[in-house]
Amino acid sequence: ARRAVLSAATGPGATADGHPVPLLANIGGPRDLEAALAYGAEGVGLYRTEFLFLDRDTAPTAEEQEAAYRPVFEAFPGGRVVVRTLDAGADKPLAFLPPSEEEPNPALGERGVRMFRRHPGIMATQLAALAAAAEGTTAEVEVMAPMVATAAEAEWFAAACREAGLRRPGIMIEVPSAALRAADLAGAVEFFSIGTNDLTQYALAADRQVSAVAGLQNPWHPAVLDLVVLAASAAASASPQGKGCGVCGEAAADPALACVLVGLGVTSLSMGAPALPWVRAALGRHTLEQCAAAARAARSAVSAAGARDAARAELPGLA
Ligand code: PEP
Ligand code: MG
Repeated sequence: ARRAVLSAATGPGATADGHPVPLLANIGGPRDLEAALAYGAEGVGLYRTEFLFLDRDTAPTAEEQEAAYRPVFEAFPGGRVVVRTLDAGADKPLAFLPPSEEEPNPALGERGVRMFRRHPGIMATQLAALAAAAEGTTAEVEVMAPMVATAAEAEWFAAACREAGLRRPGIMIEVPSAALRAADLAGAVEFFSIGTNDLTQYALAADRQVSAVAGLQNPWHPAVLDLVVLAASAAASASPQGKGCGVCGEAAADPALACVLVGLGVTSLSMGAPALPWVRAALGRHTLEQCAAAARAARSAVSAAGARDAARAELPGLA
C-alpha cells in the first residue's frame, strides 16, 4: 500500500483510465534539478536559459553554456529535456544586448526568436553548445524557440537546429498568429509547447507586467482555450502518429486547468516542480472523457470565471 501511495505521488502522469500525460518540470538552471527529481518530474519541459545571459557584459561562451546544459541532460537518462533558446527582450532585458531602438511596447518588440534574427551568431553559439552538451548523454534533447509568430520563423529556426545537429526542433506557441495558423508551422517542427503566460497576454492584449490589467491575464479565458485547441489539433494532424503539443505556462500548474488542457488535446504538461504532485493527483482522479467534458464546458462559457466554474463542475475528484 505504501508503494502504491508513493507511486501515485511520484509515478508517471496519467488519467484515471490510463491515458499517459508526461509531467515535466520547468527549470531555470541546474540548481533546480534537485526539486525536479524530488517531485518526480519525468523530464524537463521548459529549461529557461536566460539565467546564463543575465547580469553580464558579454554573451556566455559555448563552453560556459555547455557546462550549464550537460548536468540537466545527465539528470534524465532516456528522458525528455526541452531547452528553450534565449528569450531576451521585453520582461527579460539583457545588459549586453540593448534593444536596437527605443521600444514603447517591449512586449511587442524585438524579443525571443526575433532577436536571433538580428544576432544569428548568438543563436549559433547556443545551438552548438546544446549539441555538444547532448553528445554522449541519453536524454532526448529537444530545442525550442520562443515568440515565434510566422511559419518563416519556424522554418528558419528548425533549419538552424538541424544544421547544428539537433534533430528535434520545436517552437513555443505564445503568439496568437502562431496558434491561429498552427498547421502552417507544424510541418516545419517536431513539437509545439504552448506558453500560456504570453499567449494570454497577447490574446487579451493585457501586458503581463502591468498590474492594472492583471485581471485580464487569466488563462481560463475561453479565447485562450480556443487558441490551445487550434495548436493541439494542428499538431495532432501534422504527422500520421501526431506531433506533441505540451503546455509549459503557469496554466499547467493549476490542477483543474491541467485537466481541461488534457481534455483540449494537450499531450504533456510542464510546471514548477512543487505543483507536480497536485496535478498528478488531479489527472489520476479523472478519465480522459471527464477531462474532455470539462474542456467542452469551459469553452461554452463566456468568461474566465465562468469557464473555471463550469469545468470544476465536471471534475468531481478535485480537492
Ligand atoms: C509562457 O509565456 O507561458 C512561458 C512559459 O514563457 P515565459 O513565462 O518564460 O515567458
Ligand atoms: Mg513566454
